[in-house]
Formats: sequence, C-alpha cells, structure tokens
Amino acid sequence: MNIEFFGAAGEVTGSCHILRVGPKTVLLDCGLIQGSRKDEARNHDPFPFDAAGIDAVVLSHAHLDHCGRLPLLVRRGFRGPIYVQEAAGELCAILLADAAHLELRDAEYQSRKTARKIKPLFTLEDGEAVMRQLKGRKYRQRFAVVPGVEVCFRDAGHILGSCAVELSLTEGGSKRKLVFSGDLGQFDTPVLKDPECIESADYVLMESTYGNRRHRERAETVREIGEILSAVRSGSGNVLIPAFAIGRSQEILYLLGKHYEDWELDRFQVFLDSPMAIEASKVYWEHPNLYDEEATKLREANGGMPILPNLKLSRSSEDSMAINRIRSGAIVIAGSGMCNGGRIVHHLRHNLGDARNHVIIVGFQAPGTTGRKLVDRDATVRLHGEDVPVRAQIHTVGGLSAHGDQDDLARWYECMQNRPPVWLVHGEREAQYAFRDYMKQRNGAVLHLPEPGERLEL
Ligand SMILES: [Zn+2]
Repeated sequence: MNIEFFGAAGEVTGSCHILRVGPKTVLLDCGLIQGSRKDEARNHDPFPFDAAGIDAVVLSHAHLDHCGRLPLLVRRGFRGPIYVQEAAGELCAILLADAAHLELRDAEYQSRKTARKIKPLFTLEDGEAVMRQLKGRKYRQRFAVVPGVEVCFRDAGHILGSCAVELSLTEGGSKRKLVFSGDLGQFDTPVLKDPECIESADYVLMESTYGNRRHRERAETVREIGEILSAVRSGSGNVLIPAFAIGRSQEILYLLGKHYEDWELDRFQVFLDSPMAIEASKVYWEHPNLYDEEATKLREANGGMPILPNLKLSRSSEDSMAINRIRSGAIVIAGSGMCNGGRIVHHLRHNLGDARNHVIIVGFQAPGTTGRKLVDRDATVRLHGEDVPVRAQIHTVGGLSAHGDQDDLARWYECMQNRPPVWLVHGEREAQYAFRDYMKQRNGAVLHLPEPGERLEL
C-alpha cells in the first residue's frame, strides 16, 4: 500500500492525495488550485491518473481547495462514492453551485475579451452530478470505503463538518493506520468544537498553513470588536464587515448575538447581505449537535438559532440596494472577504466617503486586494471603475482565522502518544521549514516535506 502526494505538496491549495491499497485506489480530497490566473490554469490539466479508475473519494471538508475539482473528476469518468461528513456535504452543494456560477461568468468575460469561445472549468450540471455521488456520514462512525480501507471522521474544528480522517488500512496480513488532518481549526473558537484528539497513528498527513505563525489571542480580537461597536454612538454612521460566506460570517453573527447586550447592539440593524452566506448559515443553524458547549447553551436559552433579534437576511439585489439608503445604524456583513467582488463593493462605495462610518477587517487580506488597500490606509480605492476617497474609519482586528496556528497544530499532534512520523501538506515551504524545526524542539517529532508526485510506501 502507498500514498502519492499529488496536490497541496509544498503549496496551500489543490489538496489531493492518491491512496492505493491492493487493487483499490482512493482519493483523499480533490481540491481546486487557487491563486493567480497562471496557477488556476493548472486546474484544466489532465489528472495524472485515470478518473474512471478511482474507486472512491474521501473528502475532509467543503472548502473549494479540498472539493473544487470533484466536478471535473466526475465529468472525466469517476462514478464511485464520495464520502463526506453530512453537514459538510450540504455546504459542498452551496460552494460548488456558487463556483460553477462564477466559472460561467468568468468564461463569458474571457470569451468577450479574447473573442474566442472559452468554456467554463465546470458547470452547474457537473456540480449536481457530484452531489448525486455524495454519501454523508456522521463523526466517529467507522465505515468501509473499499475492501482494505475503513474510515472514521473526527471533528477538525475548522468549519462546520470539517474532518480529520482516520484510515485503517489492510493489505494481505499488514495493517496500517493513517491519519489525514484535513484543515485543522483553532482551539477555543466560537460555535465549533475543538479539533478532536486522535490517540495514535502509524503515519500522519498534516496541514501546515500557519506552521510558522502564532495567532493573536481570539479573546483580545473579540474585545476589540466590542470596543469599536460600543464606540459607534447612535446616529453616527454605519459599520461594514467584509466576511467570507462560510465560517467567518457565521462566527461574526454568533459573536454579535452573544454580546448583544454588553455591546448594546439594539441600536443597530444587522444585515447579512449575501445569499450564499444565508444558505450556509442555515446549514450551521440546522446542525446544533455539532456545536460546542457554549453555543449549545446559548442556543437553548434563546430557543433556537440565530441568537440575534435584529438580524435581517438580505437575499435579493433590491434588498441589498435598499441598505444603501441607510445613513446610520446599520451593521452590514457581506462578501467577498477581501472586498474584491460581491456586494461589499457597493456598500464600500456608498460608505467609504463619510468619516462617521466604520469598516472592520476581521480576516487576512491578500496583497493586491481592495481589502489590503484599506488595511494599508490608501487614500483612495478603485470601486466599480471609480476612485473613492477613504474617509471612513478602518479597523483591522484579525485574529479570527479558521486555521490553527503553530501551537494548535502541535497540540493536535501531541494527542498521538506514539509520536508518529508526519508528512506535511497544505502549506508554503517557508511555513513547513519553520514548523519542522519547531516540532523537533517541542516534541521530537520527525516531519517530512514531500514533493508533488512523491510516493510513500506504507
Ligand atoms: Zn479549509
């Protein structure tokens, strides 16, 4: 038996690993490569394996860099089952439909620009075909994937339904236990449970996104958001919070609900202005069995979710436009998280020019994005072809990452008493070198950095 590192070896997107046990082949994740246009063009490349020859897929979670090439896999002939945690399966449907929509829009734009017919990477129909092959499973229930491979999903605490995958492998008389971390969350995040302890393994495939970083204390970030909101007096402007539709938006709604009284939020109307975030929130609200203790208690005390009495769900574009007429007292949560597209752009256009308004940046902003320009205090930003002066107050709080930091990753690994060897995936090389040194010092673990295409005999 062996595993071959195909995607996310030495990089952070395109997670995909090929597991071979006897005559059977199983893919762990089948994610989209994300980044520059040149990087993303690699998604069109053929797979280095025959899609029709894959027996099954096991999915760690619903983010596109883990599930986004499934539509291609199915279109190219894969007909087997795709195992996924139940709630993650529901989020997949939302993400793949949205991605298909964006692909179509981009293909139309490129076709116009180049005067050639450009086909989208995949279509809505391809995404729907994926959904028909999904098989939802619960956490902590062992199930057979193919002869010789049994899987148990364990909570990874990253987004709803995210899993670390425990694989029990049997070939002839040999047995091996492989653990694939998927993406690991931080400990002590709101709503979700902590990454679950797995007691032992023979081999570990582990993410390393923030292997070289220490996050700020979450509690400090939350206090800071509270201070900003408490300082916004009645009649003194609007608050915009750019946020990703899945994970971040739900966390912010939860924080606003939890602190409704101490932050005196009855002075505001809160708008969740994103059809995709609304759909994802519903999935979160419908799976209370996956909450941590605090969220469970708050939900019970409130008689259900959401726990925010002044929340308004804004679905249509007319609803969204109507928010622009509000001059004061609105908190608007909208995507995209880095302000490069989506409804947040027109809210910024209407609000940035007024010094009474506030923008709270809660997540990482990549270089070149509008969000980054706001963080860097540029005097103007270009929105819908127009230079808009930035007079609003920009607050950068960070600290709400869905990924665990160096310490979280080490803490998760240290549950495994036998200190198994680790192969690092899903991280930039720089982060991996730092994490390898850190772990060697902290617990003596041996960490390997596989190259794409490298094969590990198990
Ligand atoms: Zn993820």
